[in-house]
Amino acid sequence: MKLSARAMAMEASATLAVTAKAKELKRSGKPVISFGAGEPDFASPPAALEAARAAMERGETHYTAGAGIPELREAICRYYRERFGLDYDPSQALVGSGAKPLVYTAFGCILDPGDEVVVFAPAWVSYVEQIRLCGGREVVVDTAGTDFIPTMEALRKALTPRTVALLINTPCNPTGVVYDGALLKELAAFAEEHDLWIVFDEIYERLTYGTARHENIVALAPAAKERTVLINGVSKAFAMTGWRIGYALAPKPLLSKMSAFQGHLTSNACSISQWASVGAFRGAEEDVRAMHGAFEERRDLIVERLRAMPHIAFAEPEGAFYAFVDIRDCLGMKHDGLSLDDDVAFCSRLLEAEYVAAVPGSAFLAPGYVRFSYANAKEEIAEGMTRFHRFLDGLR
Ligand code: PLP
Repeated sequence: MKLSARAMAMEASATLAVTAKAKELKRSGKPVISFGAGEPDFASPPAALEAARAAMERGETHYTAGAGIPELREAICRYYRERFGLDYDPSQALVGSGAKPLVYTAFGCILDPGDEVVVFAPAWVSYVEQIRLCGGREVVVDTAGTDFIPTMEALRKALTPRTVALLINTPCNPTGVVYDGALLKELAAFAEEHDLWIVFDEIYERLTYGTARHENIVALAPAAKERTVLINGVSKAFAMTGWRIGYALAPKPLLSKMSAFQGHLTSNACSISQWASVGAFRGAEEDVRAMHGAFEERRDLIVERLRAMPHIAFAEPEGAFYAFVDIRDCLGMKHDGLSLDDDVAFCSRLLEAEYVAAVPGSAFLAPGYVRFSYANAKEEIAEGMTRFHRFLDGLR
């Protein structure tokens, strides 16, 4: 039977594919260490679990308001007021089943067929697929040659009369780069000058290290508020990936359309998870701090180990929980007689030979790179890096 052109054009998520292959090997008894998944390995905070249990016992197990329970929408607005000094009304907050479908919902409400969205590469796997699913086209601005920081010159060149939006992700998955305030102000001014939407994905905002600081684009450039949709969620900040709660803050005309769009797609996000998220906002600040400390130690460990390895290069990650490694010097070399022609072959060989799972950069529009997620225990990171080092030592 015929499948749609849209379905045929779509690629499955490469991060999920690597994770699945690693899990399969693990099930068959292999000592796999996975640097694949983009999820914290910590337990969700006790405050979230308690709130979920209480919600179930109260019978909060039915449909809720489509845009989310008022308690959660209020908690989100309170959080944004306290964290960024921003004033959003709960009617400007939409709760969805993860940040991922909310990015899609935003594109669904701002793109007409053929409209273009500027995406800075390397970029998270799903943006491009989602833009295409919504009938739009991505215009990729490569930042690999400029330390993963976009330049205004490259941005200006990418602009066409069909450009309607700018997608910004900071701290960035997969590079770990954190955009500074000066750059964000320039990007906001550019959007203003060319009348563009800004989709601002700040899902890793709690995870910056060393002297790096996350800045919110609307807090820096208040005039951008009317053209910006902020995307965030509880997955990364509170280690709550499985609960599937994300949220968007946007000007009312866009938000009410996004709410209607979601109403036809998923209806409300899971009622119990919404209450768990209220619990997390109210009582998980200490857990967030503890997780942040652990991530920083892990980052320091992986950076120290990678620095000692041959054939690779990388920039010290300042945010999120990824190290993005340049393996271009390894391409064309051989491991155990097998040639490593590209980043996909490199990752397959690394998994087969050393049972170390990492994601090829081509999944992020960055062939020649490999992403290592350091959201796992220090002992695992240490052992995984020992194996990776051995793998690199074995290249000929
Ligand atoms: N945005 C970025 C940049 C991500 O890396 C992810 C998850 O990996 C998401 C959004 C989606 O998160 P969730 O759907 O779990 O809220």
